[in-house]
Amino acid sequence: MENKELHFLAKLSDLLNKDLTIDELTDGLRTVLNSYVILKDFGLFVFDGTTSTIRSCTDNWSVIEDNDTLYSAFEDIKEHDFVINSKAYKLPPVIGEINFNITSLMMPIIKEEKTFGLIELLFENNASVNMEFLFLMKIFASQVSLKLQNIVLNEQSKINVEFHDSMKNIAKIIETQYELNYIVPLIGEMLDRFISDHLIYVFLKQEGEFKLVWPKACKDERVYEALKQLTPETAYILTNEDKIGAFPLTSEGEITGCIIARSTLDKLSKRDISYLEQLTRQSAITINRANTYSKVLQYATLDALTNLNNRRQFEVRLKQEIATTKRQGNPLCAMMIDIDFFKKVNDTYGHASGDVVLRTVASVIKEHLRESDIPSRYGGEEFAVLLPYTHTEEARIVGERLRNAVEKTEIPIDKKTINVTISMGLAELNAEETGEELFERADKALYEAKESGRNRVCIDKNAKP
Ligand code: GH3
Ligand code: MG
Ligand code: MG
Repeated sequence: MENKELHFLAKLSDLLNKDLTIDELTDGLRTVLNSYVILKDFGLFVFDGTTSTIRSCTDNWSVIEDNDTLYSAFEDIKEHDFVINSKAYKLPPVIGEINFNITSLMMPIIKEEKTFGLIELLFENNASVNMEFLFLMKIFASQVSLKLQNIVLNEQSKINVEFHDSMKNIAKIIETQYELNYIVPLIGEMLDRFISDHLIYVFLKQEGEFKLVWPKACKDERVYEALKQLTPETAYILTNEDKIGAFPLTSEGEITGCIIARSTLDKLSKRDISYLEQLTRQSAITINRANTYSKVLQYATLDALTNLNNRRQFEVRLKQEIATTKRQGNPLCAMMIDIDFFKKVNDTYGHASGDVVLRTVASVIKEHLRESDIPSRYGGEEFAVLLPYTHTEEARIVGERLRNAVEKTEIPIDKKTINVTISMGLAELNAEETGEELFERADKALYEAKESGRNRVCIDKNAKP
């Protein structure tokens, strides 16, 4: 080998030994190559299997669209070592004395014996190269392949760490949750966090139609157009110059919903697409599990997280109690409880810790009630309690006792303890009213308790005589 070749290899290995971003790699390679041959252009391309397109590493992963030479070179090169001036060649076993006039040279980027990209060199005015040069380029291509894999993996893993942590976190919450109206906003929030500059919409299929479940509204007709194009076989659809991506949620070959990302700026990047694909898969599992779970739970009476009566069972008990109360003329009180600033607990310590708080508060509530009282988890972090045979004054004492007990409870979270407080609204049943009306008044009193500073018990004063 001549001095020139050795210098080239030395420079190349210097470059590849550095910790590089993809842009630094392409810039560096351009410099190293130009010190050895005179090039008109140099390109690095990677094949994107999910969209069957070639993307340019040298140009921000943009999709190459109308370059037939590149696409056919990519096919040809799978069975060969080079494509020279649009013709594919294999390297002979020995270096012969042959010279080529060359305008373009393509070399494969290989990973585990599979071609996943191309290196393209375009030469100034029909340069002449020999076999030795081609052998050298083969070494060059395999070194660059290794480095490229390395960089892509590294960049991926860096941004993926936080992402996967959150995915795990979500999976954990879901183990104890089956209410879609709690799960879907979580998924929406999470997507929002990871896919920047895009608006995220979550649709679920209900009675054969896509219903928007996150956020509250979507006025963009193009989003609905994208929904119409989905089939169960679709991995995902990109429309409107790749600014809208539709990722179907599927279960056993059926579409159960769809996550849509709509760009406010650029088209969806490869990274965004990869995140969305993973998240859609995870979300589909979650939503399907929630659906199955809620079917199973149709006949259950207890809430899975807190072991209190669930909402459905509570409604049943409410009807029964109202009937008995009215028949016997006993007093009955309703109590609505809501944890104060609970969102902050979730945001600070994570949803799994939020669940611990919910469970703890639930058990404190239960512990401080009488056997005849009927506590329930009414929704998220709200509890409803029915107090039969109880007048307002007595209920207020019970309420204060609960409020006090919760405030004093040290809840172990992350190797320390935290305290939360609750607000409460009370109302006593009037002769003429329904259970629903009773709880409306208790809810109004709860609102007052929140408004006037939280961690307190308020009594509805608008009782009808
Ligand atoms: P306020 O004092 O006004 O009640 O403030 P808040 O933060 O408690 O009120 P908000 O209603 O805004 O927040 C309730 C939060 O409870 C939002 C929701 O994410 C969370 N949440 C609902 N259900 C669950 C659950 O099952 N587990 C956990 N960890 N969080 C839940
Ligand atoms: Mg609330
Ligand atoms: Mg609250």
